[in-house]
Amino acid sequence: MSVEEFDVVVAGGGPSGSTLATFVAMQGHRVLLLEKELFPRYQIGESLLPSTIHGVCQMLGVTDELAAAGFPIKRGGTFRWGARPEPWTFSFSVSPRITGPSSFAYQVERAKFDQILLNNAKRKGVVVREECSVTDVLEEGERVTGVRYTDRDGNEHEVSASFVVDASGNKSRLYSKVGGERNYSEFFRSLALFGYFEGGKRLPAPYSGNILSVAFDNGWFWYIPLSDTLTSVGAVVRREDADKVQGDREKALESLISEAPLIAEYLADAKRVTTGKYGEVRVRKDYSYNQTEFWRPGMILVGDAACFVDPVFSSGVHLATYSGLLAARSINSVLAGDLDEKTALTEFEARYRREYSVYYEFLVAFYEMNVNEESYFWQAKKVTKSKNTDLESFVDLVGGVSSGENALVNQLVERSAEFATAVDQMAGGDDASMVPLFKSQVVKQVMQEGGQEQMRVVLGEDAEPEMPLFPGGLVVSPDGMKWLPHRPV
Ligand code: FAD
Repeated sequence: MSVEEFDVVVAGGGPSGSTLATFVAMQGHRVLLLEKELFPRYQIGESLLPSTIHGVCQMLGVTDELAAAGFPIKRGGTFRWGARPEPWTFSFSVSPRITGPSSFAYQVERAKFDQILLNNAKRKGVVVREECSVTDVLEEGERVTGVRYTDRDGNEHEVSASFVVDASGNKSRLYSKVGGERNYSEFFRSLALFGYFEGGKRLPAPYSGNILSVAFDNGWFWYIPLSDTLTSVGAVVRREDADKVQGDREKALESLISEAPLIAEYLADAKRVTTGKYGEVRVRKDYSYNQTEFWRPGMILVGDAACFVDPVFSSGVHLATYSGLLAARSINSVLAGDLDEKTALTEFEARYRREYSVYYEFLVAFYEMNVNEESYFWQAKKVTKSKNTDLESFVDLVGGVSSGENALVNQLVERSAEFATAVDQMAGGDDASMVPLFKSQVVKQVMQEGGQEQMRVVLGEDAEPEMPLFPGGLVVSPDGMKWLPHRPV
């Protein structure tokens, strides 16, 4: 068998794989992406965040294509959640001066969104082979040196590469080749049961594209508008209530909907889609975990292959695309001969784990809406094992990204301060539907975090290098595509 050679081979053409492959190919490296399915293919994960659209996707160069796709505009979220009996809404545009034209995300049919990213990868020079399933990795001693895959005709192939990236999502077993183990979250032990409806009601403008999340006795519902008429509806129930999703899935979904009056009201005139890719009522379980290792010599995990946390705040595609960007920077730096592998990949892992932790903590707190903020911050201290105060622990965890050379820092600090003021005004303002959660420093930090990739896009080559995120760590190159050693002035 002849063995093809590439610089990088990527298993999986979802958002994490296509993002990484594109950023590496954009630096002139030879990248092969192997995707098991023929696109467009179904995937769950339809509600996106502004940082994906205006940060990573803009760097990828797909902004216009996304705008032309006609995806519903998501201006924020509407929740029937916690102690408050009425629905309450938050908007991304709490300050038009900060987010302005970027104060939205999209609700996407993933088949279309993922196809846009994969097509873009091809245009940027990635060799994409669909209906090719990676079956194993090739190893020489400690190092992963390539993959074995089966093509659509059942023929086996071997490819050698300097780096193998597992971007094959949560179902494939390739991730185990990196070593360590997958730790499932005790806190987020849930099951999701979901289907699609035509003719569901919409929230009033300008929030008709918002995600609607509705808590009920056994869990919560998502209600995501995917077009004027198509809606994605899913129930997330606790593991203890697993019997509610057993048996006939259609009946189980109907029964859960009847337990959530707001969802039942919104679907009163709707019909469940029963044919095509949206015709099935699907189940997903055990979907919050993280792998104890994110890389080994020659192999890297990105996206769901590495970790995933409960979908309540729609962070999955953000983590997938952001980790793709982080790992691409490490690979680009090593292939250019700028950094050794360990240094570059340690930076990737540290930043990805920090981002995951930010969302994990954020979501834990969000599930405990009736608990005060001190408990929220205490969780951060517990996870980081920090000796600082609870709040400082979390701020340490997510802080530092905005430091660096003055022009960027000043802009970010100034903008972040405005943003924090706007969030405070929102929390204490006249709009009674805004929740006290937004008074939290942690929430401000998380929301500011999402703006940082956007700033890089805005400033481009003019962006000043940042300070390292961790002591002794690396900084981002001005074009955002590599890591640089930090040289204090
Ligand atoms: P995937 O999107 O899973 O892509 C992996 C690709 O790899 C697939 O195309 C697959 O066919 C391919 N593949 C698999 N095995 C192989 C192989 N052996 N060889 C080659 N190719 C292979 N996220 C959000 O952002 N918003 C949401 O609203 C949201 N809701 C969610 C609701 C639920 C119930 C769940 C479980 C998740 C939700 N998510 C959401 C998360 C989102 O689905 C994932 O985080 C995201 O799809 C991860 O992207 P990825 O590229 O890592 O993996």
